[in-house]
Amino acid sequence: MNPYSDRISQIQQTIATANLGSPNPEQAIQLLAVSKTKPSRDLSLAYQAGLRHFGESYLQEALSKQDQLAHFAITWHFIGPIQSNKTRAIANNFSWVHSVDRLKIAKRLNEQRAPHLSPLNIFLQINISGEQSKSGVALDQLPTLVSEIRALKNLSLRGVMAIPEKQADYGAQCQPYRDIYQAIQQLKEPDLNHFSFGMSGDMTAAVHEGATIVRVGTALFGQRN
Ligand SMILES: *Cc1c(COP(=O)(O)O)cnc(C)c1O
Repeated sequence: MNPYSDRISQIQQTIATANLGSPNPEQAIQLLAVSKTKPSRDLSLAYQAGLRHFGESYLQEALSKQDQLAHFAITWHFIGPIQSNKTRAIANNFSWVHSVDRLKIAKRLNEQRAPHLSPLNIFLQINISGEQSKSGVALDQLPTLVSEIRALKNLSLRGVMAIPEKQADYGAQCQPYRDIYQAIQQLKEPDLNHFSFGMSGDMTAAVHEGATIVRVGTALFGQRN
């Protein structure tokens, strides 16, 4: 018996139920397995239970797991903070990057993505006011940044990502996602149609407010060490 099968179906069920009340219930929602700190064996079991998208936050750790799991058809997502000196390895070893938060980083990823690879899919990380972490783009700076990133041919700007402050209250969990979703609709940029919203503690709220990909670690793999 695969230890992840039950948890995955429970999470998929939670997502499907929340999606019934979302702005676009027809939209399929991707479950991203956030596997940071977990050994390759855990990823391997989750893969065998059906998951294909894995998210990692620490570059060296991710590269070593990619090596160990090279025989699997995994789509790798980078979701951690990006330092300038790590952009080359990130650009060339991941298909999706969720945490692009400034033009300088976007330009480096664009320059360093190998030409034979398809454009790197990126999300812009949004900083909602009141958030403790300083990383992320303010919503009022988004239109300018979007037009600058459009010019970068080795990047494909797909959407936005957010990590709101933790809230226990459901309504408070929904609010920042709702604000971002509405701001994006107003931009009228048809390609900005992916929303990397929600983690283990707030996935119901995130999906209800328009998430298209949820980043789930603890609820899937258990507490991190
Ligand atoms: C670790 C992490 C997650 C997963 O968090 P859980 O609460 O364990 O589900 C999601 N997103 C990002 C950016 C993370 O760093």
